[in-house]
Amino acid sequence: MQLVAQWPRLSERGTGKGRAAYRRVPDIASPGATDKHVTDTHVTGMHVTDTQHATDARLTDARVTGAGTAGSAIAGSGEGAAVRGGSVAVVGGSIAGSAFAGAAARLGAERVVVLERSPGRLEDRGVGICTHNDRFDELVRAGHLAEDTRRHRLTIRRWVTRGPVGEGDGRDGRGRALWGQPFPFHSHHWAVLWQALRERAPEQVEFRLGATVTAVGGDAEGAWVEEADGVRHTHDLVIGADGYRSVVRAAVCPQAAPEFAGYVCWRGSYDAALLADLPGGAAVWPEEECITVCYRGGQVVIYRIPGLAPGSTQVNWVFYAPTPAWLRPDGPTGIPAGALTAGQLDGLRQLADRHLPPYWAGLVTLTPRERTFLQPVYDLATPRRTAGRLLLGGDAATVVRPHNTSGAVKALQDAHAFEQAGRAGGSWPALLASYDRERSAVGRELVDLGRTLGRAQVTDAPDWSAMDGPAMTAWWQHQLTGSGGFGGHALGRTEPSP
Ligand SMILES: Cc1cc2nc3c(=O)[nH]c(=O)nc-3n(C[C@H](O)[C@H](O)[C@H](O)COP(=O)(O)OP(=O)(O)OC[C@H]3O[C@@H](n4cnc5c(N)ncnc54)[C@H](O)[C@@H]3O)c2cc1C
Repeated sequence: MQLVAQWPRLSERGTGKGRAAYRRVPDIASPGATDKHVTDTHVTGMHVTDTQHATDARLTDARVTGAGTAGSAIAGSGEGAAVRGGSVAVVGGSIAGSAFAGAAARLGAERVVVLERSPGRLEDRGVGICTHNDRFDELVRAGHLAEDTRRHRLTIRRWVTRGPVGEGDGRDGRGRALWGQPFPFHSHHWAVLWQALRERAPEQVEFRLGATVTAVGGDAEGAWVEEADGVRHTHDLVIGADGYRSVVRAAVCPQAAPEFAGYVCWRGSYDAALLADLPGGAAVWPEEECITVCYRGGQVVIYRIPGLAPGSTQVNWVFYAPTPAWLRPDGPTGIPAGALTAGQLDGLRQLADRHLPPYWAGLVTLTPRERTFLQPVYDLATPRRTAGRLLLGGDAATVVRPHNTSGAVKALQDAHAFEQAGRAGGSWPALLASYDRERSAVGRELVDLGRTLGRAQVTDAPDWSAMDGPAMTAWWQHQLTGSGGFGGHALGRTEPSP
């Protein structure tokens, strides 16, 4: 039995037209519409089949044809024995894809090709992510990140809420302080982190933009990918780093699908120089503070991130909120940057004015339309990460609610586990089994923690007006009981928490 998954043909952007192949890391350009979100909204209705594809008359790439099972060292021991000399395709060229491609190349794969659906300007994904300092340092020591990756230091998370009626939100409009939580994290601009990963990828990694994979399949001996042009290529291994709607996952575990958490996040970012327009200006908000504004029904997390130009800074915010009535609960529901209507943006403005202390409401409403977008929040834990010569990593394998601040770390740790399994040597089955064992349980645990945090902070949050420092500390500890996974688990930890 072969494992096969297939997308329906795509007629819109990102279908492979105008495909570009290049190896050079492009310079980071100025932000604009996000290709990621534009293309995501066009991909719907995954159809999965379990069929025999024993022959492939359309196989046209002579080099890849020869790089199947016969082209690699299946058995053997020592560094990268299974991977050495083989051909590896990585579907998706974001954080996980870039990290896995680097790992495969370091293990000695003769050919590593990254197939990325977006036709260009991945660097336009201008949103912030955070990494816990300990997790970042581990990844630097393990060789996945450069120590000098540009990032913004955060030290404290200030939880605030609207002041009691009659007492107001303070002279500066920041609201009533609930808690100052130590926050040993750094924030990143997605594009800066991605570019840093790309720069570390060995020379032989081939990145192909505008390459949409429409189907994948394989068996115990090899795997194939089919692109939008209908051409199929075989490889020794196909890695699914294609995010939460992964076509590779549909072949590995067709029963696993992202579950809508029941709320959304509005997101935005912009140049921090704009803060001068707020009453009190930027000085009201110290540089190292991550702000969490709590309200009944959601919260807003706000922090600065590095700008694209060295030395510049941006404001980044994530506004968790009930699902707007106009959002379709089925089909593609994310709204990309620049595509929210005036009426929808007005709804965001009303939310901010109604629920947030004035300084933070002003900060959110300063965001330009082309830098505002909306994402539904999802959970996904796969029962397994490998099948035959297919492997899942990053969000293709697990989607964790953003409250964990662990998504990028999780993706990089997946790539690290893959590389470690490869270094242990031996056969393809041994490598794949070792990776599956190491990462599946950890992934499920992070998903569970994300659900717990989401309930505690959004859907089943306490009455904030009754909270103070000691109550917040106890409330937080309760959420983390039995889990050390906030910000991601320590690298190399294999056993689940007690
Ligand atoms: C609101 C929010 C806040 C977050 N905050 C944080 C945070 O603070 N810290 C943190 O660490 N993480 C955070 N994350 C999560 C983090 O962004 C991701 O978990 C991480 O980037 C890993 O992504 P990935 O590479 O696995 O997938 P993605 O970034 O989704 O990349 C998948 C790639 O595959 C491509 N692709 C998809 N299908 C195909 C196809 N068929 N053919 C070819 N290419 C394809 C896509 O174009 C895309 O480039 C947050 C996420 C959200 C939504």
